Amino acid sequence: MKQINAQQISFGEIGGAGEIVYRVPRFIGYFEETDHQGKLVVKPMIDPFGKPTLDYDYKLTGQDLLYSICNLYRIMNNSDVSMNNGDAVCYWCNRNIQPYNIKSLTEYMDNCDDWILNYEIIQNQAAFYTDEFVRELCNLGQTMEYYMALRDAFYEGNPKNARELYYEGRLCDGYPFFERFSRIEDDTKYIQAIRNDYRELAQILIGLFPEFKVGLQFENKTDKIGMYADIDSVFDICWYTFSRLVADIAPPLDEDLDSLYSNGSYICCLNCGRYVKRKGPRQKYCSDPECQAARNRQKYKNFYKRNKQK
Ligand SMILES: [Zn+2]
Repeated sequence: MKQINAQQISFGEIGGAGEIVYRVPRFIGYFEETDHQGKLVVKPMIDPFGKPTLDYDYKLTGQDLLYSICNLYRIMNNSDVSMNNGDAVCYWCNRNIQPYNIKSLTEYMDNCDDWILNYEIIQNQAAFYTDEFVRELCNLGQTMEYYMALRDAFYEGNPKNARELYYEGRLCDGYPFFERFSRIEDDTKYIQAIRNDYRELAQILIGLFPEFKVGLQFENKTDKIGMYADIDSVFDICWYTFSRLVADIAPPLDEDLDSLYSNGSYICCLNCGRYVKRKGPRQKYCSDPECQAARNRQKYKNFYKRNKQK
């Protein structure tokens, strides 16, 4: 496992519903080049008129990052499209944050008097391999899909994402953990089979998560002792946020949906699969017109079915 350094990120830094806002470097842009070993490397652009920033102003929460990364996975892993991995990774970094070596960069930039003079050091510290990013992206994206599918099946009785979990992607395939149920055509029996095996399926989910180092740290700014997770990359942030989500959102089966989703969780749109912030407790589709049309078709179908049964 990758060695990660301690980045001081307080659980309670921003308050709210336990949401953490991360302090990470941002650069004005990224580009990809080949290093001396012939490997593809992504580096930030350094512009004398655009000092890299380092503050909390962006209000990027762990959840925002997690779903932004998972949507990037969906787009990049689509086998119907062709794209350059480096371009897609640079595009994501431009619009989000520096993904690697957050700890050392933050420290260096905090203590660096003349960043223009030292820009090469900063640039090299921020550089990372495209392949490593893609590999970590796949691990996270596959696990998120599995979690969403398991959650939808177990808690909401919705088999769609579980049935579609196993697929061939451009970068990697979906996880095959529901394949043994695929012979069951009846949805009710399918859901029942998943619920029967829930313990085992949940254990598989847990096993996909990395371990975290958590420790205490004195905060000079507030004179408080805080609890911190070791964070050095955007994937550390995502896995950490994701693990809190998995632990927090797992409610007893009969819990009221309104309280379950009250503090802005995300859903996986039932039509297009995109991850979007949930606006209402029963929302299952994103706001895309096509997905809203699919929702209306489904509503009509259900209505028709209910009337027929009467
Ligand atoms: Zn959608």
